[in-house]
Amino acid sequence: MANMVKTREVFGPIPRKRGGFGKWLIEDPFANYFTFTTMRSKSKKHEQDIFGYLSEHHAGNFLINEPLDRHTWYGIGGPASYFVFPQSRDLLVRLLQKCKEWQIAQFVIGEGANLLVNDRGFDGMVISLAGFRSIARNDTTVQAGAGCTLRNLVLFCERNGLSGVQFLSGIPGTVGGALTMNAGIDQGAIGDCVSEVTFIDANAGVGRLSRQQIAFGYRSAPELQDKVLLGCTLKMKPQDESVLRETRIEMLKKRAAKQPLEFGSCGSVFKRPAGHYVGRMVEDAGLKGVRRGDAMVSEKHGGFIVNLGGARAEDVMYLIELVRDEVYKRYSVQLEPEVRFLGF
Ligand SMILES: Cc1cc2nc3c(=O)[nH]c(=O)nc-3n(C[C@H](O)[C@H](O)[C@H](O)COP(=O)(O)OP(=O)(O)OC[C@H]3O[C@@H](n4cnc5c(N)ncnc54)[C@H](O)[C@@H]3O)c2cc1C
Repeated sequence: MANMVKTREVFGPIPRKRGGFGKWLIEDPFANYFTFTTMRSKSKKHEQDIFGYLSEHHAGNFLINEPLDRHTWYGIGGPASYFVFPQSRDLLVRLLQKCKEWQIAQFVIGEGANLLVNDRGFDGMVISLAGFRSIARNDTTVQAGAGCTLRNLVLFCERNGLSGVQFLSGIPGTVGGALTMNAGIDQGAIGDCVSEVTFIDANAGVGRLSRQQIAFGYRSAPELQDKVLLGCTLKMKPQDESVLRETRIEMLKKRAAKQPLEFGSCGSVFKRPAGHYVGRMVEDAGLKGVRRGDAMVSEKHGGFIVNLGGARAEDVMYLIELVRDEVYKRYSVQLEPEVRFLGF
């Protein structure tokens, strides 16, 4: 696949390397996005306990040393010490309590569509809420579990003649991930139709937040960070199924025309800075097609850094820094990542 694309190869050391990523992160506003850099996990210390607990309570629903490239849209990432699929709210609450007791880092994953995982992996517990994918309707209200995929949500609403989430068509991910990111497009984001979100907080207590209590912004939902989201209630409007279907198909076509969907990626790597388009800045800076290993700044969409097949997280990181540096030099614009990082 890589041979089909005309590219410019970049060699040389990672730019701005100041004593490794750790130092870089501390100095940089980017640091906020590396939630787990400083967390020292004790998964080794409690290995026996953890294995015993998972075998007893999550039999058939956990994996050990699970490669995370299988669980991300990038197709990149080393192993997670543990990967668990809790099958009930009680089991999830108890698992979170246990993680605290064992002092091991935990991370909730959706479809991994907005995730770059370190090549070394993640020393901790990755929790998937794929078991929480229920979806139900009551009049114009829809209740969706955090593990429900956006594709299923869009199709469910379409078949029920409910309008509000059709702009999520073609966005990969789960309801939980979309709420965390306030995923969407220019025309709207999931937060626009949320009326309530249920979650588990850091003390393993189940809570609710109403729409008014969440300051949804462009790819942000501050009150929903550092919580395990269980699901949400969405307030929709009636609409003809055929109109919704047409909109969906139109959106999928537009995406296929503009985005390099043939390759692994995380979608747009950076948030759109006010008054600028990342794709255009990247193109003007001559960075389209720039490549490191099997990672490449997409030629089709400058805001994407794609995996041509065997890219490593380190390659993607190199290009992320390169793009940030070049864009800053030209435009004095500090690009902020939209992608989330795990294990760095
Ligand atoms: C080809 C492509 C196109 C894309 N286009 C768009 C687009 O147009 N608009 C857009 O907004 N995004 C886009 N994205 C990015 C991505 O689809 C969204 O960010 C999506 O919401 C990620 O959902 P996820 O379930 O995969 O989350 P993940 O990538 O698995 O996780 C993202 C973050 O959400 C957190 N998270 C996930 N589930 C939960 C939960 N239940 N509780 C608490 N935290 C949770 C994770 O911990 C992580 O911090 C695109 C990605 C790709 C690959």
